[in-house]
Amino acid sequence: MSTVDVVVVGAGCAGLSAATALAEAGARVAVVEARPMAGGRTFATADRITGDWVDNGQHVLFGCYHDTLEYLDRIGTRRKVRVQSALAVPMIDMQGRQSELRCPALPSPLQLAAGVLAWEVLTWRERLAVAGLGRALDPAAPPPPPDETVRQWLTRHGQPARLCDLLWEPLAVAALNQPIDHATATTFVEVVRRMLGPGPDDAALVIPSESLSHLIVDPAVAFVEARGGEVLRGAPARVTVDARGVTGVDVRGRVISARHVVSSVPWHAVAALFQDVPEALAPIVSRASAMRSAPIVTVNLWFDRAVLDAPFIGLPGRAFQWVFDKRLVSPGQASHLSLVCSGADEIVGLENDAIIARAVEEFTRAVPAAARARLVRATAVRERRATFSLAAGEPARPDTVTPLQGFLLAGDWIDTGLPATIESAVVSGHRAARAVTGRGHS
Ligand SMILES: Cc1cc2nc3c(=O)[nH]c(=O)nc-3n(C[C@H](O)[C@H](O)[C@H](O)COP(=O)(O)OP(=O)(O)OC[C@H]3O[C@@H](n4cnc5c(N)ncnc54)[C@H](O)[C@@H]3O)c2cc1C
Repeated sequence: MSTVDVVVVGAGCAGLSAATALAEAGARVAVVEARPMAGGRTFATADRITGDWVDNGQHVLFGCYHDTLEYLDRIGTRRKVRVQSALAVPMIDMQGRQSELRCPALPSPLQLAAGVLAWEVLTWRERLAVAGLGRALDPAAPPPPPDETVRQWLTRHGQPARLCDLLWEPLAVAALNQPIDHATATTFVEVVRRMLGPGPDDAALVIPSESLSHLIVDPAVAFVEARGGEVLRGAPARVTVDARGVTGVDVRGRVISARHVVSSVPWHAVAALFQDVPEALAPIVSRASAMRSAPIVTVNLWFDRAVLDAPFIGLPGRAFQWVFDKRLVSPGQASHLSLVCSGADEIVGLENDAIIARAVEEFTRAVPAAARARLVRATAVRERRATFSLAAGEPARPDTVTPLQGFLLAGDWIDTGLPATIESAVVSGHRAARAVTGRGHS
């Protein structure tokens, strides 16, 4: 048996942000991760043919991911991301017209207004409709009704259908991982408000220039270990409890005692943490188990030459709505692209060949240069439980502090007000760390 101050269960972004913050504060930490590798929903593996590091799915951050950027500072990898000087989004519409939404570096929310006013694909009516959203996006404005979908909210605020297709739907589907007819507006409005936040870079896209394992995971594991902590992999944990509260965890017979246990496992894995769910936690566990999940499908394509002249491009109206050129991560003559299908319910069940054919067809039709290049390799990655559902009627998300003494919750699904994102996970990890150390609460 060993004794530490805190056991963190799960080594995704939430667990690693909690563990690094705790280790930095001087706590003795053990992280226990069920899988053979750390990272959870953010990891990379070396492609067996090309040797390139391939993420389980492209991840994009925003300048308003303040907790994530603080975490990257802590583990020393902030220089491994490219931050846009201002939001710039190149797109190719269904008619093949290329344009760019380029927001100048102006104080918020003027940057979006100025960007949209100059975006030539929009009619004047559409440009003015965006400008008219200013009041609804003001942080002081009342939140949308809880059951209102993103589409209903956009319609209520006078956004024409073509504007939704070109701007709001791609943004919402990327942020929420759900069709705008299903996802509720509350979280979407929160995302847009944060992007339009006071920081000059809040709306800027932040793109990793290293694989996720090298950016977010391995340096965090090293950080914890360098401060005397332990990160056990291949270590599924059961939380142990007595009449007063948590006593630690059991990992296949190895007992680790601790006064605090931070669970950072996803919603669908909480029930399995306990041999018998303690009565005090029963409502939380039953709500977590009832939360539904949403998939993301990624197709990786390798062409024999560069086919994109931008680091990424939006393809509104297609199943694969975003394409990223991975030359930042894997420089070279060949071109590794990552095509993302968010809200992927329709295609997640197809065979790999069918998924890849759809991605290639959509991409080469939008970017004719790709049709002239030779496709040398293609892979498909399905993440069936990429995110939790934000549809109406989903159970309420829990707080960090639970009624079970010493047992704290982290994970992107905790009530952060954000969708399932790295930022939500890191915010939740930092909250759990603060709840343990008593250094401020949010
Ligand atoms: C393909 C894809 C694309 C995405 N794109 C973006 C994006 O562009 N931007 C963005 O911000 N977010 C994106 N996300 C979402 C983001 O990856 C997640 O929100 C975030 O990684 C969740 O982190 P987490 O730590 O809360 O959970 P997880 O990463 O799921 O970590 C939980 C960990 O707990 C472990 N565990 C479970 N049970 C046990 C147990 N009993 N004992 C020990 N360990 C256990 C699991 O193995 C796992 O490692 C994307 C997700 C996917 C899948």
